[in-house]
Amino acid sequence: MSAVHSFRWRYSGQSDPRPRPSRRPLLFMLGLGALYLWVTWNIKQGRDQVRVKQDFAMMGTLVEITVVAPKAKEPQDLIEGAQKEIARMEDLLSPYKKDSVVSRLNDLPASTPLRLRPEEMDALEVFEAARTISEWSDGAFDITFASVGDLWNFDPQNPRIPTQEEIAKALPAVGYRNVVVNWNAATITLAKEGTRVGLGAIAKGAAVDHAVQYLKEKGATGAMVNAGGDLRVFGKKEDGSPWTIQIQHPRDNSRRIPESGLPLDGDIAVATSGDYERAVMVNGKRYHHILNPRTGMPAEGLMSVTVWSPSAMWTDQSTTGMPTAGLISVTEWSPSATRADGLATAFFVLGPEKGLALAERLKPVEAAFITEEGKILCTPGVPDSIRNARLSQGGLP
Ligand code: ADP
Ligand code: MG
Repeated sequence: MSAVHSFRWRYSGQSDPRPRPSRRPLLFMLGLGALYLWVTWNIKQGRDQVRVKQDFAMMGTLVEITVVAPKAKEPQDLIEGAQKEIARMEDLLSPYKKDSVVSRLNDLPASTPLRLRPEEMDALEVFEAARTISEWSDGAFDITFASVGDLWNFDPQNPRIPTQEEIAKALPAVGYRNVVVNWNAATITLAKEGTRVGLGAIAKGAAVDHAVQYLKEKGATGAMVNAGGDLRVFGKKEDGSPWTIQIQHPRDNSRRIPESGLPLDGDIAVATSGDYERAVMVNGKRYHHILNPRTGMPAEGLMSVTVWSPSAMWTDQSTTGMPTAGLISVTEWSPSATRADGLATAFFVLGPEKGLALAERLKPVEAAFITEEGKILCTPGVPDSIRNARLSQGGLP
């Protein structure tokens, strides 16, 4: 856009060949005047915005919180409050915290309901979102993957690859329908012997949503909250420019796509799932942390999936693919990092063809798939700077 404009401007300038007296001092004074007006106007409007950023090691990843707010709102305090929200979600959802909902649930005997405390109800929402994504993806996304997933260890210092016998024994406990959520009773029940749950594919997104919700309530005018590639933005930077993101090259940590950065317009969530995040190489084969719940083995066909979840109106019909007898209910699709995070994992497990087909049905979600061969496949709304990116000349590293 801006390239086109500057070309036109220069062109019209050149079409006027008459010599003119220099207008530079006048233009300069006008410029100064405009700047003065702009600054005083902004201050009067309470728009003396500042941008503050802080990084934290949380949820097993790097969490970056950037806040734009008027100075009077104490942006540093807002960051601390947002961080506390993320810590609260981690305490609820992490399998590494003994008192988390997930740990207590996994420790209970089968068919024994876990009653949530009133302050734990946010966890129920995450289970609910997980269930929806399982239904959309026909079980490719499944938090009970953990029944077999807990046999694996992808820590390169201490890898563990289960035997086929171990996997076969654990697989019958996998199935998202084994997780029963009861809102009225505030309980979650694992209905089958051996069923375990893990929210690793959705918890970071949920934490980002809660941090963003907090920042909006407290008067931030803009923010980017990024939990290791699961992120959400709203508003703009303090100078009015948009937030920008890049996708990590799945095989070259020093490269980002697109090199110039992709601007994000307004309130939107973006999440990436990659086979490079946690993986071990054994005998030249890569074993990574995104598992196919049907086989108990790492999902094949892709290196990464990036999902955009914008705010928009959507129809139930376009989401479920089921005609609703002429009645299309229109719902507001709010940007959700929870959903983007979960869908990125779901698409990854589904693989390039089925994943892309589901992404195309789930309007207004957009998704970019990087296949094992290094091809980039996209839904129609993905910007050209990503669609046309080349991962390498002649073969991937
Ligand atoms: P990242 O951690 O790279 O953002 P994901 O969002 O895809 O990646 O989450 C991967 C995590 O999700 C795994 O570490 C594991 O905890 C969990 N997981 C793995 N396979 C599945 C699956 N099929 N369905 C749901 N969760 C999964
Ligand atoms: Mg995910």
